[in-house]
Amino acid sequence: MSDLTVFAQTYAEARGKFLDAARAAGARLIAYEHAEGKGPAGEPLFLDAALVGPADASHVFTVASGTHGIEGFPGSAAQTTWLRGKAKLPADTAVLLLHANNPWGFAHKTRTTEDNVDLNRNFVNFAQPRPMNAGYEEVHPHVTPDEWNDASIAGIFRWLDGFRARVGEKAFSDAFNGGQYAHQDGIFYGGARPQWANGAFRRAVKEHLGHARKVSFMDLHTGIGPYGDHIYLCFHPEGSPARERARSWWGERAVNLQGVTHKKLATYSGVIIDAFAEMLPQAEVTSIVVEYGTRPREEMQRASMLQRWLRFNGAKDPARAKKLQADYEAAFYPLEPDWRRNVLEQSRDFLARGVAGIAAS
Ligand SMILES: [Zn+2]
Repeated sequence: MSDLTVFAQTYAEARGKFLDAARAAGARLIAYEHAEGKGPAGEPLFLDAALVGPADASHVFTVASGTHGIEGFPGSAAQTTWLRGKAKLPADTAVLLLHANNPWGFAHKTRTTEDNVDLNRNFVNFAQPRPMNAGYEEVHPHVTPDEWNDASIAGIFRWLDGFRARVGEKAFSDAFNGGQYAHQDGIFYGGARPQWANGAFRRAVKEHLGHARKVSFMDLHTGIGPYGDHIYLCFHPEGSPARERARSWWGERAVNLQGVTHKKLATYSGVIIDAFAEMLPQAEVTSIVVEYGTRPREEMQRASMLQRWLRFNGAKDPARAKKLQADYEAAFYPLEPDWRRNVLEQSRDFLARGVAGIAAS
């Protein structure tokens, strides 16, 4: 039976449940306190790392939540459930849980960081010119309305439909959500500098995984996929040993895009799983993104645009912004008990597969 009390209403509550479960499981805990941001009530924010198993294990399964802030709620519930039901780990194997990669977004119930940066586009090399996204330049004025109402939304989607018909699905995805580095007030903005959360993640990875030889990284997200199910995104190249490992651990669906609600995936810039692999050149790395599905793609696109409208225009009409915020939250963190039960049951299975996979690799 799934215990739905692991699902929290606030970041602080989620963190408390996670830390309690981690202590009870005998985890080694390190907290990285946010140096630049606080929660909505002025509370401190942390990336928390919980290591279960031997600190010098050469096989480590890493599971992260909250790279996209608000998506941390279901991810945190899955991590806490795993800690509560933790089975004995195989020899020379550890599990590293990273709780709240973007704690500011988690606490403020939004996707982005304190600078409106999408942390999962922020891991670019800032010593070099930032990637250009010519398609986004065209999209930007159409997806950043001053007014948010039925007429403005209908107008946006009419324009987007025409744009998609003109450029095709792949160029549409690249433009819309591949990541852009030119408009701080836009969507899928990758930033002008590494975010605090970027540095904290790098410290945690170095401190806990510098010695490991076989490492897996699972990044838990929400929003792509059918409601009540989960999907996998594997970015290892076709035919690579890493892709074959993912297939053997999680099955064919780990690599065949089963259930993915995007007709074509964007080529993403600056994603965290790439940074993870680059930081661990000594290790054999198997990375996978898991997305808990919620709503159809068009509704999630609307949510992305609503997020930036709330951020930059919401203060004009606080009562309305509050209602719209609730709808935004439900798009990433559904309230329905059946959805939440599915998250926990499915997570139990794919986390167990990850542990077994890394132990046997
Ligand atoms: Zn996400």
